[in-house]
This record gives sequence, C-alpha cells and structure tokens, in this order.
Amino acid sequence: MLETAVYDTKPYDRQYLTAATHHIKWRFHEFRLSADTAVAAKGAQAVCVFVHDVADRSCLATLSKLGIRLLALRCAGHNNVDLAAARALNLAVVRVPAYSPHAVAEHTIALLLALSRKIHRAYNRVREHNFALNSLIGFEIHGKTVGVVGTGKIGRITAQIFRGFGAQVVAYDPAPSQDWAAQQNVTYLDWQALLAQSDIISLHLPLLTETHHLLNAEAFGRMKRGVIVLNTSRGKLIDTRALIAALKRGAVGGIALDVYEEEEGIFFEDLSDQVLLDDLLPRLLSFPNVLITAHQAFFTHEAMTEIARVTTTNLLKLETAEPWLPGTAL
Ligand code: NAD
Repeated sequence: MLETAVYDTKPYDRQYLTAATHHIKWRFHEFRLSADTAVAAKGAQAVCVFVHDVADRSCLATLSKLGIRLLALRCAGHNNVDLAAARALNLAVVRVPAYSPHAVAEHTIALLLALSRKIHRAYNRVREHNFALNSLIGFEIHGKTVGVVGTGKIGRITAQIFRGFGAQVVAYDPAPSQDWAAQQNVTYLDWQALLAQSDIISLHLPLLTETHHLLNAEAFGRMKRGVIVLNTSRGKLIDTRALIAALKRGAVGGIALDVYEEEEGIFFEDLSDQVLLDDLLPRLLSFPNVLITAHQAFFTHEAMTEIARVTTTNLLKLETAEPWLPGTAL
C-alpha cells in the first residue's frame, strides 16, 4: 500500500484524508516539512504538505535521496516549493488547483461585511448588554467601485458577488478574461487607474517574485483616501510596515486580512498562552478598522472534502502508474 508522510497536520486534516480513502497508509506528522524534517519521510513513497511547509532545494534533495517520488500539495498556492529543483530531481509535484473558489470568495465578502457593518464590535457589545449604536456607523457596498486584482477562479467569483451587491467592478489582471468581463459588466483598468478609482480593493492573485509587496508605500499613496483593502490571497503581497503607516495617517480606511506577511508559525496555532514575538501583528490588531482571520478562507466542509478527494486521487496515481510527467505534473 502506498505510504505517504503528511506534514503539518491538524485533527481536521487527518479526519478528511482518512475518510477519503482506505488505499493509502497515512503517516501523520504535526510538524512542518523543512530541510531538517524531510528525513521523517523515510520509508514513504510520497509526501503531502500544506501552505507553510518549506520544500526548498535542500529539503527536496533529501526527499529524493529517501526515494520520495511525489510531493502532493493539499492547497492551490505553490510558492513554498522550489519547482525548478523538483524538476531537476525528477520529483513530481501535484496540487489541488481549484478545491472551492467559492469558499475563499465568500470568506472575502464575510470579512468585508463584518468590517463595513462593524459586526465583530457589535457582537461583543450586545453580549455585554450594551445596545448603543455609537461608532457602529457602517457603509454600503452598493454603488461603490470595487477593484478586483487578479481575475482567476476566486477573483471572478468575488467580482460576480460584488456585482450582485450593485457595486461597479473594475479589475486588473495581466491575463484578462475579456469575454467574462463583458458578460459580467466588469471593466479592466491598468494598475494605476485601478488604485486611483477603487473604494474597495480585493486581492486575488498569486504570490510571485513580481507580486511580492505589490501593495507598498507607493501603491498605498496612489489609492483613494479611506480605501478599504481585502487580502485573502497571500500575506507577502502587502508590505505590512507600509500598511501600518497608511492606517495611521488614515490613507487606508480599513483592511480585512485572512493572510499575514509573517503568518508562518503563527496562523493555525493556538498561541493564547504565549507571548507573541512578532511585533507587527499585535500593532495591526490594535487598530479598530483592522479585521484579521488566521488563513481560514479555504476552511469549509465542501473545500476540505474536495481537497482530500483530489489529494488522494493525485497520490494514488503513483500506484496505478497513470501517466503524469515527473516534475511537470503541477
Ligand atoms: P488563479 O490562478 O485561478 O488566478 C490567479 C489570477 O491572478 C490569474 O488570472 C493571473 O493572471 C492573475 N495574476 C497573476 N499576476 C498578477 C498580477 N501581477 N496582478 C494581477 N493579477 C495577476 O488563482 P485562484 O484560485 O483564483 O487563487 C488566487 C489566490 O488565492 C491564490 O494564488 C492563493 O494565493 C490564494 N488562496 C488563498 C486561500 C485562503 O485560504 N486564504 C485559499 C486558496 C487560494
């Protein structure tokens, strides 16, 4: 039976993967994959990782030496894997390209509505029998201009939901979907125009070398004063120091984040008994107009079921010798 070392697992990962198949012998590790922990895959034929595992060149070299032939990502993003090194080592890399774009799109909207109507603050207030409305004034999405950055699977669904609110949707993507945009009444703009015209900006693009710190001091300086920013994509798309400066001077009117630049080792963990060593996250949490969730946009029953189904299908291809090209399967 195919033996798979699964890194960075939580009880819910084990539950969904175990339920998905009886044909894989799972070896669950709570710790993450790195060059130091790769050796724990000894005896397995495949490894399965998530967003915070680090499959760099030296880690992949160790896996290859151990006879690992397949690295299965149980997520869509793959910025944590050195694909060139995997290719050179003849190690196939597979992922779950689209488990449920609706999960992420809907969470983006949930965050925006909580932020725009101050639901998180109202919830706490009412629980303390404080029924006053002071400082709970919200704003409407209807009639606003929403800039969707990246119109792939998630960006397109998010844009369509915004259209349902009666917002005007503008978009930026170096590979635009013109037919879809025409159907949905979405207008593509260039990057500078999107920054200048949007009341709300929502990020739905991958983290690449060229998109690292896409929202930096210069970009924040070009946005409308009081703009609302949403990031459910990757933390490193935003320069956190520049964001904090923009929040302090009121240039950014509010931000909802499901991802954070230095989330690795923090998000997905219960650190409530510990001192947070990161200095910027507590500063962000101190703003009343910042709302943060810990990378949970993907976390729905539907998405977890689909992630487990596609991951096990990907892994079982190794046993049935279905044709996939080593190193190029991603
Ligand atoms: P996708 O590949 O379908 O779409 C990405 C789009 O971004 C593409 O259309 C691409 O052309 C565009 N793009 C590339 N470079 C760009 C740039 N510089 N500016 C603007 N657009 C650019 O990906 P997707 O499934 O829609 O996912 C989007 C992102 O969401 C992923 O990259 C991932 O980082 C993130 N994500 C987050 C979660 C979560 O739980 N928070 C879950 C899944 C995915």
